[in-house]
Amino acid sequence: MVTLPNEITILGAGLSGLTAAIGLARAGKRVTVLEKRSLKSDAGLGIQITPNGSAVLRALGIWPGSPATIADAVEMVCYRTGVRQLRLPLDGGAKGRQPHLLFHRNDLIERMQKLAFAAGVKLTFETEVKRIETFNDRVNCIFKNGQVHRTPYLIGADGLHSQTQRMLNNGGAARRGHYVAWRALIDLPEKEANEDNHVCLIHAPGHHVVTYPLRDSEMQNMVAVKKLRRARPVRHLQASHKQELFKEFANLTACHTMFDRCHDITVWVLPDSELSDIWYNGRAVIIGDALHPMLPFLAQGGNMALEDGWCLTQLLLSSDSIASAHQLFRDRREVRIRRVLRAADGQGWLNHLGSWVDIPRSIVLRSLGSVYPPFFTHRLNWLFDHDVTLPP
Ligand SMILES: Cc1cc2nc3c(=O)[nH]c(=O)nc-3n(C[C@H](O)[C@H](O)[C@H](O)COP(=O)(O)OP(=O)(O)OC[C@H]3O[C@@H](n4cnc5c(N)ncnc54)[C@H](O)[C@@H]3O)c2cc1C
Repeated sequence: MVTLPNEITILGAGLSGLTAAIGLARAGKRVTVLEKRSLKSDAGLGIQITPNGSAVLRALGIWPGSPATIADAVEMVCYRTGVRQLRLPLDGGAKGRQPHLLFHRNDLIERMQKLAFAAGVKLTFETEVKRIETFNDRVNCIFKNGQVHRTPYLIGADGLHSQTQRMLNNGGAARRGHYVAWRALIDLPEKEANEDNHVCLIHAPGHHVVTYPLRDSEMQNMVAVKKLRRARPVRHLQASHKQELFKEFANLTACHTMFDRCHDITVWVLPDSELSDIWYNGRAVIIGDALHPMLPFLAQGGNMALEDGWCLTQLLLSSDSIASAHQLFRDRREVRIRRVLRAADGQGWLNHLGSWVDIPRSIVLRSLGSVYPPFFTHRLNWLFDHDVTLPP
């Protein structure tokens, strides 16, 4: 029976890796995190943390106390006229539910890094692991220059192109995707910055756009998604420009003023949802995007990464062996992860229906919105009300 060693290595300082690092270090473990980006590098644009993720941030002591905006509602807007079709209040803070938070990713990652340093985690940046080998008594992380970092236990929180996932699953196929996403930031003029803090959702045939405010409404985050006719390979983020947005989203006239103000535009093919066959071996485990890349249409990839990081940490600390912690981790997480993957795929289908659905959708939205507005948010109670920090 292999018990949890005192020295633990985590590959990747994203949401899942930092959650596990903070928890394990606070429990007295000597935690090393290997991260390929630099300390100050840009971790991305905006991220929505839904109540299930906010519960983890609260338990870690990250929220309250971090610069985030609380979202009041989701609003659906007509893609041609910009007229609001439906407003769905998010009962953040009410009835004991955690708030729906809107973060600039850099603010969230920086705060998590600070807490990790404070807990004694050894965070090493600009350290890219090129290959991983596993043995009965250790795991070897091999760097580009051939140097080896040996560890008795590895948590692979290394995201979409995970080396740990590859090692566990003997390589694995290259990822492909059916949607392309453009992401950008928009500076807000002061008069608009005074509006309330809602997430805005715009559906058009085969396309959808999401915007929300960041940093006290100084700026907005925008994601514009188009469905592809055929799957394409997933590559790394690439820079894009406004002209591409105008061309690809020509019929979304309500968005054109906003497109004109976009900056830091990037584009990439979103990986299709997937759950790894093999989650762990005797000395290594994967969490977050490394385990289950998912479509972002319910904003759950990061939230699931937080849940995974928290859940695995508690099980490692409370189980009598690594093997039983791993088994319990799979038992506790698999049904929920599969349900979230299916729900995100389903939302993707709904968000990108063809033009035939335009008028019926508008009628359904308006009538359900006037008869029973909470309908749309209540159907996700199973997702948002799950608090992984409470005993099962
Ligand atoms: C358009 C879009 C919008 C999204 N919006 C949301 C949202 O609103 N809410 C939400 O919850 N989720 C959202 N997501 C998903 C979310 O970003 C991810 O699911 C989440 O960041 C996964 O966290 P992670 O810690 O598992 O992986 P990552 O955040 O990818 O972290 C992995 C880390 O590992 C490091 N790394 C990787 N390989 C190596 C290596 N070989 N050596 C060293 N370091 C390595 C990387 O540099 C990185 O820092 C969105 C995704 C997209 C594409």
